[in-house]
Amino acid sequence: MKYLSEYRDSKAVKDFATAMEKITTKKWKIMEVCGGQTHSIVKYGIDELIPKEIELIHGPGCPVCVTPVEIIDQAIEIAKLSDVIFTSFGDMLRVPGSDTDLLRVKAVGGDIRIVYSPLDALKIARENKDKEVVFFAVGFETTAPANAMAVYEASKTNVNNFSLLVSHVLVPPAIEAILSSAKNTVQGFLAAGHVCTIMGYEEYIPLAAKYKVPIVVTGFEPLDIMQGIYMCIKQLEENRHEVENQYIRSVKQEGNLSAKQIISEIFQIIPRKWRGIGEINQSGFSLSEKYKNFDAEKKFNIKIKDKEESSECISGLILQGLQKPTDCPAFRKKCTPENPLGATMVSSEGACAAYYRYKIAHKTTA
Ligand code: SF4
Repeated sequence: MKYLSEYRDSKAVKDFATAMEKITTKKWKIMEVCGGQTHSIVKYGIDELIPKEIELIHGPGCPVCVTPVEIIDQAIEIAKLSDVIFTSFGDMLRVPGSDTDLLRVKAVGGDIRIVYSPLDALKIARENKDKEVVFFAVGFETTAPANAMAVYEASKTNVNNFSLLVSHVLVPPAIEAILSSAKNTVQGFLAAGHVCTIMGYEEYIPLAAKYKVPIVVTGFEPLDIMQGIYMCIKQLEENRHEVENQYIRSVKQEGNLSAKQIISEIFQIIPRKWRGIGEINQSGFSLSEKYKNFDAEKKFNIKIKDKEESSECISGLILQGLQKPTDCPAFRKKCTPENPLGATMVSSEGACAAYYRYKIAHKTTA
């Protein structure tokens, strides 16, 4: 298949490992920001293929994992209401709130429906005028254009029984939060190719210059990731700190201008709390004042108090790259994908789930 099989070519992957061996002279720590990249790294054993001097640190780029427990609780309370049809992508249903999850609410009669697009949720709203239809809008910049389009369409066609429960987070402020932390040990970043496909990478240029870190926009297949790591190591070894684009088949510096335009029409940038990390300034989207009638948070006005995470779960430290899943005492014991204690075990993009599935059970090599 074009654009897939050639990026899983084991010989080309091994050639990059050999090239990396030749240029690596010291220890380096590189963070892959995106959970999809973490998944590929662990699935294909990339962390064991690269020179032992290079440590890959798993970043906070799993939107399911960083959605705050208070928003999950809010979703649960809205989904319990008898006049509501609550719609969501499937992966949010098993994320633990403080007492239960959406799947359990569905099991006892909540009208919760899995959809594949916010436009499917809008269609449900058009077909059920006597109900309020809410879509759980979770994700990074990648999913924001479709969510924005659904609100734009709802507004244009007066579908007033439709709303979004928004928990969008943004990558560049999270990278800056990691870099500005006194505990930071990350020396280079692989930025998420799909996020940059939408937003471009202009925002990363001042970050690379200010913190003197190379940032390489990278795809998700084994060859993409090997090349991204190679480009990052090459910069570090040459004492360069630039933004480079490995994912040129998808990403332009300016991003997708139409997608950015609909995002800026519908959303505004606000501070957001990240599960396990805390509030990061200017790190999320909410609906702008003009579209506030489509904001489920305002429409239902359900107040949830701040909640404590399970004291056993160290997912906050894992999401900041300070610990690995295998450092958690509950990993594979009290916490499994069937009975997750924390969000990084629920999502297939979560580091704990990736380690559980590929690191211990079996390995697939590229
Ligand atoms: S293994 Fe479970 S309890 Fe431990 S950090 Fe991961 S999600 Fe949290």
